[in-house]
Amino acid sequence: MTGTTRDLLQHPEPGDRWLVAVAHPDDESFGCGSTIAHATTRGAEVTVVCATRGEAGEPAAELPHGTDLGSVREVELRRAAGHLGVARLELLGYRDSGFDGACGPGALCSAPVDELAVVLGRLVEEIGPDVVVVLDGSDGHRDHLHVRAGMRAALAGSQGPALYEHCLPNSLLRRWLDEMRSVRPDTAYHGLDPATLGRADEDVTDVLDTTAVLDRREAAMAEHRSQTSPFDGLSADLRRAFLTADHLARVDLSDHHA
Ligand SMILES: [Zn+2]
Repeated sequence: MTGTTRDLLQHPEPGDRWLVAVAHPDDESFGCGSTIAHATTRGAEVTVVCATRGEAGEPAAELPHGTDLGSVREVELRRAAGHLGVARLELLGYRDSGFDGACGPGALCSAPVDELAVVLGRLVEEIGPDVVVVLDGSDGHRDHLHVRAGMRAALAGSQGPALYEHCLPNSLLRRWLDEMRSVRPDTAYHGLDPATLGRADEDVTDVLDTTAVLDRREAAMAEHRSQTSPFDGLSADLRRAFLTADHLARVDLSDHHA
């Protein structure tokens, strides 16, 4: 970068390089798909690195005969990445840890953060991204938190890329919880504490208006047929609120020494 004050997140341009690191196929679409499409439609070259093939996900329907969930989800990821305009896709080959239970051999949660940081750091060095995006993991999935920790460690003290955590603000998830409780009063949603949902609104540093790339986001999400969309069954208003604005929290890398 040469002395520009351009906001790289809001105003990507051709020649910009982005690296988006996620844990599972579908995180790039259900999570930060609009942010990716926002960048690629403005000409940025986006690499997505996905740590696992999502083997531990819940299949939404019976799988085609003779296929395993990991290979089905890899295909879904590749198709979704196409809709989002992703230039390059890297799979790290860890196993999906699942939401809980023991961390088995090869599982992402078994990999020390330092080791993951080395792997991600190599990609950062190779690509030289201007912007790096991860999910903030405030949904509590240990693999999401692990990728976030690995990237923070990889970039600690770095003068290089701007690191953003894609997040869902608490205020939006409170709306979601209110709706879930009224639509499905018989479910476990009553056990959730609204105060702990998502990311504190004051942590959000940037909001992207992603209305213009909604079609790409929808097309990418639709490829993940083996998974249930988190946006299924929402009211039109709430669904639109989730899908037409992306919230990000910039990470101050000087705070995070390796
Ligand atoms: Zn995930």
